[in-house]
Amino acid sequence: MTGKPKQLVQLDAAEQAHESRKPLFGLDLEALEARMVEAGEPAWRGRQLAEALYRQRIAGLDAITTLPKPLRQRLAVEGWEVGRPRIARVFQSVDGTERYLVECQGQDAQTVETVWMPEGDGGEAGDGSDLDAPEMPENPEMLGAPSIPRLSAERVGNQKSQQEFVQYDNASGEQGKRWERATICVSSQVGCAVNCRFCLTAKLGLQRNLTAGEIAGQVIAVFERHGVEVGRDRVNLVFMGMGEPLLNYDNFMGAVRLLVLEVGLSPRRMTVSTSGIVPGIERFAQEPAEVRPKLAISLNAPNDRIRGEIMPINRKWPIESVMDAVRKVQLRPRERVTFEYVLLGGVTDRPEHAVEVARLVRRTGLPIKVNLIAWNPGPGIEYTMPQPEAVEAFRGVLAGEGIPTYLRRPRGRDIFAACGQLKRTVEG
Ligand code: SF4
Repeated sequence: MTGKPKQLVQLDAAEQAHESRKPLFGLDLEALEARMVEAGEPAWRGRQLAEALYRQRIAGLDAITTLPKPLRQRLAVEGWEVGRPRIARVFQSVDGTERYLVECQGQDAQTVETVWMPEGDGGEAGDGSDLDAPEMPENPEMLGAPSIPRLSAERVGNQKSQQEFVQYDNASGEQGKRWERATICVSSQVGCAVNCRFCLTAKLGLQRNLTAGEIAGQVIAVFERHGVEVGRDRVNLVFMGMGEPLLNYDNFMGAVRLLVLEVGLSPRRMTVSTSGIVPGIERFAQEPAEVRPKLAISLNAPNDRIRGEIMPINRKWPIESVMDAVRKVQLRPRERVTFEYVLLGGVTDRPEHAVEVARLVRRTGLPIKVNLIAWNPGPGIEYTMPQPEAVEAFRGVLAGEGIPTYLRRPRGRDIFAACGQLKRTVEG
């Protein structure tokens, strides 16, 4: 580890929402219009409200001055509030990554985790960042690159990220932009029921589903912190945080629709990762392209035997059934399906595994790519990190088989922000 990360912000909990409060944030345009009509107002007031919540990102009812004051007061008396999730704590990595405990307002002020990765994680399309990329690789960490960075527990940052390290002393993060593009990793559930053996989130079990507002609200809270300008800044969303999005399907897609239709983000800058929930993938395949994010499958093993051991969900939906479901997704031009592959030392990282993986993903007959992730250690998990030589050999085999392959840089390991490490850890 390189230096102790700082817990930079712990906001006053005095502003916690009262339990009886009803959040407006999370309601779609139709629901907001209906709310206004119920209040005896014209339906177009719902559009004003949507503008205020999702485009102007106004956090308090009082500040929505497009609505007449008596209406705002009436809504407040009835128990309505904006009710957007807020960043309660910030942990900052030496590599510039930030992990947030985001507090959901309303019923129980539980926290979930959201991660900000300035400059992405090198995962190319796995982080949704290849929208404008040419078909041929140009990322130096890609297929055929002469060398790969050494992977070790000590190497969590690089010179550049350390030079760019900025200390924030408030939750807004107003320090001017120090990034050209960024990726936000969003949670969909508190905890997770899928129980992948290599994942720290699994240790929490499933505590509850997040609402659409709580999922979309993580994004808006982070946008506010970093002053993201929608339509100008290159920010990708990956639904790869805590939870299995396709086991919270309606709320997950509700959040995506809010982010696309009301906030104005492109679904092509969003990627959802699933452990292979076949009915969820089949439903996802029916979504219109205008609101459908890109798909990533968390494959992680070369065959059913190993996958069944490290991901028990595979016993219910084996690899072939997942592949059949994936083939039902109508890909957009230049879109590819991503296969995420966590390399576990001695378990999934052998060259013969890479050969099997190449065959597997090729058999889909779809445009695909593979994102390799060297496993991130976590307390109480009995796997080991892969050796750098094994990672290089694995990538070399896939490259030799002609599979577009990317290595995702480990981001924020020192603050438990990296893949599979999200467990609402409060110690730095
Ligand atoms: S890897 Fe994803 S699906 Fe598996 S237990 Fe962790 S959060 Fe759940």
